[in-house]
Amino acid sequence: MKDLVIVGAGQSAAQCVLTLKRNNFEKPIVVIGEEDHLPYQRPPLSKDYLSGDVELDRVYMKTQDFYDQNNVTVKVATKVLSLDRREKMVHLSKGEALPYENLVLATGSRVRQLEVEGSDLKNINYLRSINDSNNLKDQFQKGKSLVIIGAGYIGLEVAAAAVKKGLKVTVVEMEDRVMSRTVDPIISDYFDTLHRNKGVEIILGSALEKFEGKAFVEKVVCTDGTTLDADSVVVGVGILPNQELAESAGLRCNNGILVNEFGRTEDPSIFACGDCTNHPNFYVNKNIRLESVHNALEQAKTVALSLLGKPEKYDQVPWFWSDQFEEKLQTVGLSGDHDETVVRGSIEERLFMLFYLKKGELIAVDSVNNPKDFLISKKLVANKLKISSDVLCDQSVDLKDLLK
Ligand code: FAD
Repeated sequence: MKDLVIVGAGQSAAQCVLTLKRNNFEKPIVVIGEEDHLPYQRPPLSKDYLSGDVELDRVYMKTQDFYDQNNVTVKVATKVLSLDRREKMVHLSKGEALPYENLVLATGSRVRQLEVEGSDLKNINYLRSINDSNNLKDQFQKGKSLVIIGAGYIGLEVAAAAVKKGLKVTVVEMEDRVMSRTVDPIISDYFDTLHRNKGVEIILGSALEKFEGKAFVEKVVCTDGTTLDADSVVVGVGILPNQELAESAGLRCNNGILVNEFGRTEDPSIFACGDCTNHPNFYVNKNIRLESVHNALEQAKTVALSLLGKPEKYDQVPWFWSDQFEEKLQTVGLSGDHDETVVRGSIEERLFMLFYLKKGELIAVDSVNNPKDFLISKKLVANKLKISSDVLCDQSVDLKDLLK
């Protein structure tokens, strides 16, 4: 019996294993991961693990015992260097070659690195892994200056964790508002105010020019002429899909490894799931690449079902969350194409939702501190609810009633 080989030992890989095992998949499974860790969850790395509120053991998805008891070999600190589709073999960094019957690519993504003067100075951090988070934690010393490049989710979450630890934090963002890629200005303004009130300095409309320092970073120079003192820097300017292994094996990629609705690549024995894929999404009616836990988990389940011979179409509405200070932002659907926004609730009371409509149809919702109504909103978006903005903002209307 040949193995099922999973490349990448991230959240998607681990979920694929879990779903297979829950459904009595009997073939041996080998998971190969480049990092020196069993599969773990990344969200805490910029939130409660970084701020010291959660211990490392809570970050891992399963213990070694689980894999041992379930006939799953996890090879950590091992990179898959190449993939031979004709021989159905993967070649590993430790010189080994493994045959496979089916292969799952769950290679995730990596941070986009900046190539400016001074990029190689010490204490310039990127945040993707446990090791990155640990390094950053070591630099979180009260009174030190931290400059964050990029006011996306990662940058703002790190800002919140650093302020809690007593650092002096400045965020530099080249756009004219925070989280501009993903949310409406109403949400940007809300989080901008929150951060400033907590002591974060935010510089908008200014890009990074260079870093200065001897061995360690000392200054951050911005294009608008601002120069900031920095004991440490965090760069959070986006990620790139790890598609090179697939690409060099001749699999089609376009901003991610191309898979169909069952998670299958053009090679019938090779599947892919998680951050590394570009996949059809029936809800937005186009191919997309997502960078979220929900997608990593759900697409892994889709791939597992295909491997079990019970294929089901991947048909999920994207959703995401971010925790910053005590605030919880949850987002469902994809905005951007909308022509109307509606606020429900009270921004002043820190409990509200922002609905995005396109030609009267609900296409996305951002929820601030309202997980209960967010759950209902997920269903409303999935149902492609057609509704007038007057009804949506009327708090005497129970959202649940709109599901009927
Ligand atoms: P990854 O988690 O990237 O795992 C892929 C693994 O494959 C990596 O360990 C990589 O080293 C390994 N690999 C790659 N190539 C090879 C190779 N050739 N050989 C061997 N191994 C290889 N999402 C949310 O929805 N909400 C959040 O709040 C949130 N917060 C986040 C905070 C941080 C700090 C980060 C980094 C991400 C966050 N995300 C969040 C995103 C979420 O964690 C990712 O979408 C998810 O981890 C994707 O899982 P994955 O398994 O597809 O990829």
